[in-house]
Amino acid sequence: MTKYIFVTGGVSSSLGKGIIAASLAKLLQARGLRVAIQKFDPYINVDPGTLNPYEHGECYVTDDGAETDLDLGHYERFLNIPTSQANNVTTGRIYQTVINHEREGVYLGKTVQVIPHITNEIKRRMQALAVTGEYDIIITEIGGTVGDIESLPFMESIRQMKWELGNQNAIVIHLTLIPYLRSAKELKTKPTQHSVKDLLEIGIQPDILVCRTEMELNTELRRKLALFCNVTVNSVIEAKDVSTIYEVPIEMLREKLDLTVLDKLNLNTTQEPDLGLWRKFLDTLKNPKGEVRIGLVGKYVELQDAYKSIHEAFIHAGASNECKVIVESIHSEHLNGDNAAELLSHLDGVLVAPGFGGRGIEGKIDAIKYIREHKIPFFGICFGMQCAAIEFARNVLKLEGAHTVEVAPETSHPVIDIMEDQKGLTQKGGTMRLGAYDCQLEPDSIAREAYGKGLIQERHRHRYEFNNLYIEQFRKAGMNISGINPHRKLVEIIELANHPYYIGVQFHPELKSTVERPHPLFVSFVAAACKFRDAKN
Ligand code: GLN
Repeated sequence: MTKYIFVTGGVSSSLGKGIIAASLAKLLQARGLRVAIQKFDPYINVDPGTLNPYEHGECYVTDDGAETDLDLGHYERFLNIPTSQANNVTTGRIYQTVINHEREGVYLGKTVQVIPHITNEIKRRMQALAVTGEYDIIITEIGGTVGDIESLPFMESIRQMKWELGNQNAIVIHLTLIPYLRSAKELKTKPTQHSVKDLLEIGIQPDILVCRTEMELNTELRRKLALFCNVTVNSVIEAKDVSTIYEVPIEMLREKLDLTVLDKLNLNTTQEPDLGLWRKFLDTLKNPKGEVRIGLVGKYVELQDAYKSIHEAFIHAGASNECKVIVESIHSEHLNGDNAAELLSHLDGVLVAPGFGGRGIEGKIDAIKYIREHKIPFFGICFGMQCAAIEFARNVLKLEGAHTVEVAPETSHPVIDIMEDQKGLTQKGGTMRLGAYDCQLEPDSIAREAYGKGLIQERHRHRYEFNNLYIEQFRKAGMNISGINPHRKLVEIIELANHPYYIGVQFHPELKSTVERPHPLFVSFVAAACKFRDAKN
């Protein structure tokens, strides 16, 4: 029988529920259990695909083409198994399903209500992954903070599931904050007590408290929390601030979170957790032999979360090259032909980020011109690849005014054009080219060498594509078209041969980089940046 763990948050948002959920899942997985994690978000958007990155950070895309919350990225990076559409559910999607059922007459004349119709649909989705029989444990992270009006139906569903399945089959882990008051030189438990009271008011007794804290929790404080929140003392877990999120599983192991969970769920494994690869990664991450400095040119650089997977992919690729990657964010709106040298010349490599719309595009194009001419390693992703094509068309092929029709619909040289099946679409949500598609790699290319095979699958999220009418012109001028979608002949990868490392990809490699499987293109790009750095000195 599948067991359920719910992770709720209290006191404050941004405590890292996703990382705690992923770390626990990692420990259980390392003990041989089959674990899935999913995220339930109380907002009304049907999925985060229509959200601006300033709202919720990066939109993560799964193999099956779901546009999801960025926490699913953490789940994949930690567990090394792909997530899917079923792993991210929002209030919007729940209501959409219920309302569609109502229109179809499914409810046979009944008044459709939050309880039971909405809560039943939530519970059905909470258990949906269990139907496959593939999992021993399903961890469900609930977005937001206890007490939010919009999360109430989710909390009620958890209460019902605990009641229906029993406390040994469904447990609640409450992630909370123990603030340190500098003036009083004291850690304070009161906000946690209040947040647990909020949960109790809804009818949920949390089983375990995970306490984010700057300072160690002493025995006295743990006892106090246990007493007032009605949990056992060993159910008070300390989650002290650490230097990298990848250390959290080790910290949770030290605090015996996994053992406490197994005990509550009546599961006994004799198997010790196998964290060999994880510890090896952590060790190289913490003891780099050198460092490289890579520029990240984008228009959302103020917000780290907007490029979450790119930052994490650099951490994985850095460890795999035994070097620390220092990512220097550069705002594309601040870049132009005049200051490109000042902003870019000291870098060992430059990544031009994905994006949408015209803001900052000229800065990206100016950056790529400088990088191409000065032979600095370059990696363009999605919009970054499209900008590379525009730059090449304008400055090498001398196609004046070359552009993407996304920004200049009337351009005389549409080197980036709208995809045929995107024409005439009016609905925005879920209509891009999404998810994993095949890409055939050319022999003797950077990509072919990095991947070590000829056919790859990578994830996409775009409406525009390289215009195949320009392929020959590009090829003749030295731009290698090194990756093609075999079914639709879409250009997936462009590369410059006469350059230390220059590659643009239409897909999002960052989404498939994990701790145990760093992405080959990030690994080869960081290696090229190291080589470039060494050649300079
Ligand atoms: N705006 C571009 C497109 O839709 C690129 C998208 C992206 O970078 N994800 O094709």
